[in-house]
Amino acid sequence: MISFTNTEIAFAHLTNRGLLRAKFIFKLISKPLFMNTWQLLLRVLLKLKIPVEWIAKPLIYNQFVGGDTLEQCKPWIERLWNFRVYSLLFYSVEREKNPENILSNYKELHSAVKFSIDDPRIAFIDFKPTGLIDSRILSLVSEKAMLNAKDEMEYDEFKTRVDSLCKLAYSGNKPIIIDAEESWYQNAVEELADEMMLKYNKEKAIVYRSFQLYRANMLEKLFQSHRVALENNYILGAKIVRGAYMDSERARAVRLGYKSPIFELKAETDRAFNEAIKFSLSNVDSISIHYGTHNEDSIMYAISLMESLNIAKSDDRVFFSQLFGMSDNISFNLADSGYKVVKYIPYGPLLEVIPYLMRRSMENISVQGQTGRELVYVKKEIKRRKFKKGS
Ligand SMILES: Cc1cc2nc3c(=O)[nH]c(=O)nc-3n(C[C@H](O)[C@H](O)[C@H](O)COP(=O)(O)OP(=O)(O)OC[C@H]3O[C@@H](n4cnc5c(N)ncnc54)[C@H](O)[C@@H]3O)c2cc1C
Repeated sequence: MISFTNTEIAFAHLTNRGLLRAKFIFKLISKPLFMNTWQLLLRVLLKLKIPVEWIAKPLIYNQFVGGDTLEQCKPWIERLWNFRVYSLLFYSVEREKNPENILSNYKELHSAVKFSIDDPRIAFIDFKPTGLIDSRILSLVSEKAMLNAKDEMEYDEFKTRVDSLCKLAYSGNKPIIIDAEESWYQNAVEELADEMMLKYNKEKAIVYRSFQLYRANMLEKLFQSHRVALENNYILGAKIVRGAYMDSERARAVRLGYKSPIFELKAETDRAFNEAIKFSLSNVDSISIHYGTHNEDSIMYAISLMESLNIAKSDDRVFFSQLFGMSDNISFNLADSGYKVVKYIPYGPLLEVIPYLMRRSMENISVQGQTGRELVYVKKEIKRRKFKKGS
């Protein structure tokens, strides 16, 4: 039976220095007072347009981001692959409004798809729709509101760009994942993702849509998407996650006076996530799956189901993924046991990845248990190496 506590396997890709840095960072981010002050300082500096490199790079950026550019991520791709962990290079931009920046995001994503096609150690490509269109337009489309001529043009351009990324991915046989963000953009994104799957998923899953199981209606949406895929004779590509925007979802629901679409309790999300695991694995002939989670119980549940359903560990219709710099104990032990594992490596200039980093640091404050666990594993490995050297 697989164990996630083997730290020799978990951290073999890290040097002693890398381990010490991880220990330092996980110690810091486990202190809510420090993280809240750090975030506040970062926000103030950004507002005042004062450089933030000195406070963000050594602390959070270097732990959670692969580099500024695709090229800079190459050593990580190599290092992960030494342990049979695939990479996914994630241009971590979101919520862009400026048309010039949107165009440059699109160009960068295009390069990222090409770069990924050329490298078999990269298993997927992934993008956030709000990096490619003003999110205001996505929410209008999601509400089925009338668009003015300019917004209509921008929306058409967005759809054309998403199509060209998916087409390129299809031509290079490289799966591409469309991320899920806040619920008020999602109707538009889901509709487009379904269109892309209908176009490019006839033989295998090239386009993946994301399902956030913290949304009370998501399990039903997963069943419905599967029905639509079967009726239209294509493979459903499903990235299954819990969901990263709980705070902003709740805050907006309170502000605008509607019922939050997110479950009240974590246990309800966990239950829905398990149901999604069961449903997807039971239909693996028509669903290709990508589980994005750091939850050990969920992964244990998935791998026990794989065994009982006779799905091979190396079946490339079932991938597990974790974020770079987090939960190495899961990624490397899974890969060592023969499962398909991907590490999301975010890359991009510091200022562009700040929203991503903020979310990671908030997540680390709110999932104290997980950060605590990471720290325990890192310390255990440092001790093991010291002891080995001394013996
Ligand atoms: C590879 C990868 C890709 C990802 N891609 C996306 C993406 O495209 N879109 C996206 O939104 N997120 C994405 N995430 C983030 C993900 O949705 C979670 O926020 C994060 O992984 C933590 O959840 P967990 O499953 O790892 O485990 P856990 O730590 O067990 O779960 C924490 C999660 O549970 C849920 N939760 C916590 N408290 C409550 C509560 N009181 N009520 C209801 N639910 C609660 C929240 O979703 C919270 O994030 C991704 C994560 C990974 C690892």
